[in-house]
Amino acid sequence: MRFDRIKEKLEILADAAKYDVSCSSSGSKRSNKNKGLGNSDGMGICHSYTPDGRCVSLLKILLTNHCIFDCAYCVTRRSNDIKRAAFKVQEVVDLTINFYRRNYIEGLFLSSGIFKNADFTMERLIQVAKKLRLEENFNGYIHLKSIPGASDELMREAGLYADRLSVNIEIPTVSGLKKLAPEKDHSDFIKPMNKVKNEIIQYNSEKKLIKSTPKYAPAGQSTQMIVGVSGESDREIMLSANYYYKNYNMKRVYYSGYVPISNDPRLPSLGSQVPMLRENRLYQTDWLMRFYGFDVNELLNQQFPNLDVEVDPKLSWALRNQHQFPVDVNSAEKEMLLRIPGVGLKSVHKILQARKFRKLNYDHLKAIGVALNRARYFIICDGRGWEKQDLSASRIKSLILRNSAGKFRKEYSSQLSLF
Ligand code: SF4
Repeated sequence: MRFDRIKEKLEILADAAKYDVSCSSSGSKRSNKNKGLGNSDGMGICHSYTPDGRCVSLLKILLTNHCIFDCAYCVTRRSNDIKRAAFKVQEVVDLTINFYRRNYIEGLFLSSGIFKNADFTMERLIQVAKKLRLEENFNGYIHLKSIPGASDELMREAGLYADRLSVNIEIPTVSGLKKLAPEKDHSDFIKPMNKVKNEIIQYNSEKKLIKSTPKYAPAGQSTQMIVGVSGESDREIMLSANYYYKNYNMKRVYYSGYVPISNDPRLPSLGSQVPMLRENRLYQTDWLMRFYGFDVNELLNQQFPNLDVEVDPKLSWALRNQHQFPVDVNSAEKEMLLRIPGVGLKSVHKILQARKFRKLNYDHLKAIGVALNRARYFIICDGRGWEKQDLSASRIKSLILRNSAGKFRKEYSSQLSLF
């Protein structure tokens, strides 16, 4: 193996992979002190979470950044004048094992541009996972990208070696996809997603009857949408996410603020800010839908198609629904406690436990971890009257923003760089 050539490929293909946010973070640094292969130097190592909640370091790379497609939003698009490279299957296997043995990583995140066609590329991704599992006896975490348009047979095989599969929908609406990636068809994404969903259901039910049934994509499937590239409202993005959660059993939908990478009249111009704060609000909305019992139409609707960037979506909803408050924390149902701004899942659990033994007051709530700077406008506690009932929504919002200036203003004023 020529180390200098491998290192160059690693630089190119780890850099190209950073635009995929299906791993939770990028940028771990581990230097190799033995002059051998594997000086990651921050390249290609990211973090993700296993189904049991463990945070794992992954080698995050593309198999190749050659691509026959020309999707406007993608750095790897055919017409972009960039350095290209491709790993051989064995090179990815060797890199993974070398990094793994040096304790740099606990798994592999492998995506790819599409060379020749979807099946040709998918076959090579599967070969990497298969070799790792069967020849190297590798038991680490493997996340494989499903190539849009790949055959059912290949998707079935991929799930037998990968822990997680993901096909990135990228553009939340069919019309947006047509505009920015006219060579692609919406069904190219749906077909592999559907296959993976059905295989997971089938393998899980067989496993209940026959213990020796192999696992199929035990960490499920995920997808990613790019935010701020095709003019969709937050409502359209979240309706789309909701659709994929409900119809394809997605474990996660990731939202990736668009990073301007090329001059194209259909896209935000070079130098435009990455919509980091909007991305954050979408993640908060996603959380409210999945864990707090909110329906997407409560948070976003025709009158309110975009999230308020100044305050979190739960507070924004509460300000628009003041008639549902105050909530008595000593007697309210769990469903309503979850809707109080400043009260998180853990706090709700603690409130439900603690109030079995005593009537809770504001000191108790503070000790539990409730953010009283927000919650106090929406609760009754320990028999104390609701003093804020005459305040308008806009007045409450301005008081909260003023009193939590450190947190909200900082978040609001600065756009972070994405990587
Ligand atoms: S097919 Fe995938 S890798 Fe190729 S240009 Fe489109 S988004 Fe990029």
